[in-house]
Amino acid sequence: MKKAILVYPEFPETFWSFSYALKFVRKSSTFPPLGLLTVAALLPKDWELKLVDLNIENLKDDDLYWADFVMISAMAIQRKSAEEIIGRAKKLGKKIVAGGPLFTMHYEEFMETVDHLVLNEAEVTLKRFLDDLSEGKAKKIYSAEGFADIEKTPVPEFRLAKMKRYDSMNIQFSRGCPFNCEFCDIPLLYGHRPRTKSGSQIISELESLYNLGWKGGIFFVDDNFIGNRRKLKSEVLPAIIRWSKFRNYPYHFFTEASLNLADDEELMNMMVDAGFNEVFVGIESPNPESLKEVHKVQNYSRNIMDSIKRIHEHGLIVQGGFILGFDNDPPEIFKSMVDFIQKSGIITAMVGLLQAPKGTKLYERLKKQGRLIKEFVDNNTDFSINFIPKMDYKKLLKGYKWVVDKIYSQKYLYERFNSFVKSYNPIAKARPKLTWTRIRAFLRSIFVIGLWGKGRRYYWRALIKTAFKKPKLFPLAVTFEIYGYHFRKIYEKQARKIKGLLS
Ligand code: SF4
Repeated sequence: MKKAILVYPEFPETFWSFSYALKFVRKSSTFPPLGLLTVAALLPKDWELKLVDLNIENLKDDDLYWADFVMISAMAIQRKSAEEIIGRAKKLGKKIVAGGPLFTMHYEEFMETVDHLVLNEAEVTLKRFLDDLSEGKAKKIYSAEGFADIEKTPVPEFRLAKMKRYDSMNIQFSRGCPFNCEFCDIPLLYGHRPRTKSGSQIISELESLYNLGWKGGIFFVDDNFIGNRRKLKSEVLPAIIRWSKFRNYPYHFFTEASLNLADDEELMNMMVDAGFNEVFVGIESPNPESLKEVHKVQNYSRNIMDSIKRIHEHGLIVQGGFILGFDNDPPEIFKSMVDFIQKSGIITAMVGLLQAPKGTKLYERLKKQGRLIKEFVDNNTDFSINFIPKMDYKKLLKGYKWVVDKIYSQKYLYERFNSFVKSYNPIAKARPKLTWTRIRAFLRSIFVIGLWGKGRRYYWRALIKTAFKKPKLFPLAVTFEIYGYHFRKIYEKQARKIKGLLS
């Protein structure tokens, strides 16, 4: 019997980490590492497994001594922590097996330090590695040309996750995206043709979480949840709707989708009926020329503002991703982006600088133009940029800083919440339940934001107004205030770091 420790490297603090918001609900991380939980399900049943997620706990030397194999999965943003784990495991003479996007895209840099690079999708390459291992001839590198049939992917081993330490659980319906945005590595890593799981697979995963006692939210960690609308509408959403009704809506779901979701009323209604209440959408820019430049076809051919409002009206809260640094961004882009975000009512607006991940069309274009400076580290909110932008670099950084400073301020957050309330229709079937944890988070927000926060009058205005005019939205108002607090804390830290750069 073999023993393997599955190790998930630490993420740095970013807007996406929600680290300051998680403190309010006493959680350590947003989600468990779904990739490693899936790997665990693919490993032989007689292997003994442990999961160590460095985002919620420390990796002890005893754990490393115990294991025959140290298996690491990481994204580019986790590189620093991944390298530290590799260093420690190596010192103890452990066999290291690594996979996931960081190693798939940068395997040449780990040839010396990692024993077995199991690249691309584990459903394809892990089996080959295990077969070779059992015959005593495991190779250095395993890669795949094609993509996995995820209808055969087993239910992730959720039991290995220390559920109480996470804010939400995650499952996956599809991989791949039919669009072709120039800066995105998803089509490269997972293909253009969305591959999907079946309705019964999704129900098995939900049942597994339910039987393990999970209570809370579930994130469908899809590249684009609506990539295969036909299957969603005919099989998967009807199955989830039946399950959610039968189980009395134990979970609220959220996911990522392209903006053309707004065109499909039936799909939005079905998602809400299934228990979805939130969706992250890549808006990228209010400037059509910038969208054209990066082939964001699904956005530039429409009135984006109307589409966002339509999604809100159908009961789904839009979280939005925005990017600055496109070649076609005009000098007034900073102001127009802030105006757009304010008008849209998107509270969770994530603004980042454009980055060129390795292998993307953007990376190739910039390389040809001699504009690449360094490799992408997968953090587009830390004021770094891995290419020479068209706009003067300092001007871009100053503009970005100005945008972030504005949109996360208490005043702007309050105004945005007012715009949101005007278009959002609170018909969600499933909402976060009122628990002692949430009550405690509210009380803590009173002290941290309401009594000690800089723009506390806006906190009170938002809460009092909501309590009297839209009481149903009161928990949301508290959540958004806590998110705003997190964004401001991260921004303050980042701004301190780049102070010298801007002088
Ligand atoms: S729609 Fe989203 S996932 Fe699809 S290619 Fe564009 S950025 Fe990537």
